[in-house]
Amino acid sequence: MSKTITLLGSTGSIGTQSLDVIRAQGYRVHGLAANSRVEMLAQQVQEFQPDWVAVVDEAAADKMESLLAGMPSPPRLLRGPEGLIELARHPVDAVLNAVVGIAGLGATLAAIESHNDVALANKESLVTGGHLVTEAVRRNGVHLLPVDSEHSAIFQCLQDAHSAKTLTKILLTASGGPFFGMKREQLAGKTRADALKHPNWNMGAKITIDSASLMNKGLELIEAVWLFGLPPEKIQIVVQRQSIIHSMVQFSDNSVLAQLGVPDMRIPIQYALTWPERVPGPAPELDFTTLKQLTFDVADEETFRCLAACKKAIAKGGLAPCAANGANEEAVRLFLEDKIGFLDIGRLVEAVVDSESFGGTYTLPDVYECDRMARSFVLAHI
Ligand code: NDP
Ligand code: MG
Repeated sequence: MSKTITLLGSTGSIGTQSLDVIRAQGYRVHGLAANSRVEMLAQQVQEFQPDWVAVVDEAAADKMESLLAGMPSPPRLLRGPEGLIELARHPVDAVLNAVVGIAGLGATLAAIESHNDVALANKESLVTGGHLVTEAVRRNGVHLLPVDSEHSAIFQCLQDAHSAKTLTKILLTASGGPFFGMKREQLAGKTRADALKHPNWNMGAKITIDSASLMNKGLELIEAVWLFGLPPEKIQIVVQRQSIIHSMVQFSDNSVLAQLGVPDMRIPIQYALTWPERVPGPAPELDFTTLKQLTFDVADEETFRCLAACKKAIAKGGLAPCAANGANEEAVRLFLEDKIGFLDIGRLVEAVVDSESFGGTYTLPDVYECDRMARSFVLAHI
């Protein structure tokens, strides 16, 4: 079935892999959005011929305007964070949100409020504003389809409605990242280049650092709580070094279901767009003759404090996960600029979570205020 898609964050790792899927399925692209990489965005425009583009960075939007001026029938251009939100509001079959960071939250909410189904890669939307996002989904009767591979795996294992009612536990798998098995002494000197080498996945810089610090697994734990409604103590993190089992679910009779596949994000991206159907796609099949073994380990929360901090944050509730996320976004930015050490990321995220109670319900302005507070806290404690 042909569909019309708006893709936010089209120039990123998930964005470009989403375009592979869109190309393979022959879907129509209504809108594309990026922050600043306008040369790549212009190439995407030439190939996919969207009706609209949005560019968030102002200087990049000026550049995009001149690139579009040279095209025969250019799309209309939207600018700034407001332009991103306006594009998310246009009616389509699905808005695929592959923006990185809290910058994606407004667009997720805008898409849902305009009755669009959302294929969500931007886990930070649920981490920072999970209550607002899930409430908006319920109120507007739309589908929120997970793109994150673990959450897609869990979602795929829960398609049988009878079993889904008896879900007792989620086994959220983690690759362990490039620093698996190391202790704090070894992590202290790790650089940006060390942390950017992920063993199994090729991803954007921020999530690659989050994988190395296990912050990504902490964010995913919070994401799973919002998506599947289990309390955090019923979500167990299992290190699966090969990234072949993408997560598992356990039912009341202790039967366990798992979803397996090659580590290729085009599988979960495609499932979010074709659900509830399955169709052939661009990802290769899993070759069990070369796979040989699947290993399982326990995540080391004593060493990887980001994971411990996210567990504390979800237990505190309210805006604590938003604070953890804001602190992490700022700390990762500083780490990528070689301004803080690797272990400082966990120290700063945990210190923000410990700094207040954060409880209670919240509004969207409260989320942005908490995010600003967490970023200032980090800058004051480096
Ligand atoms: P990338 O850094 O590769 O891409 C991020 C995208 O977001 C780019 O298109 C970028 O534009 C755009 N962007 C950056 N800042 C803004 C902003 N302020 N407003 C609007 N757009 C912005 O990230 P990934 O593709 O790796 O990750 C995207 C999301 O998907 C993240 O939430 C991540 O956690 C999640 N995810 C990623 C996975 C992966 O394998 N990569 C796996 C599972 C989840 P520009 O290029 O112009 O800067
Ligand atoms: Mg994931």
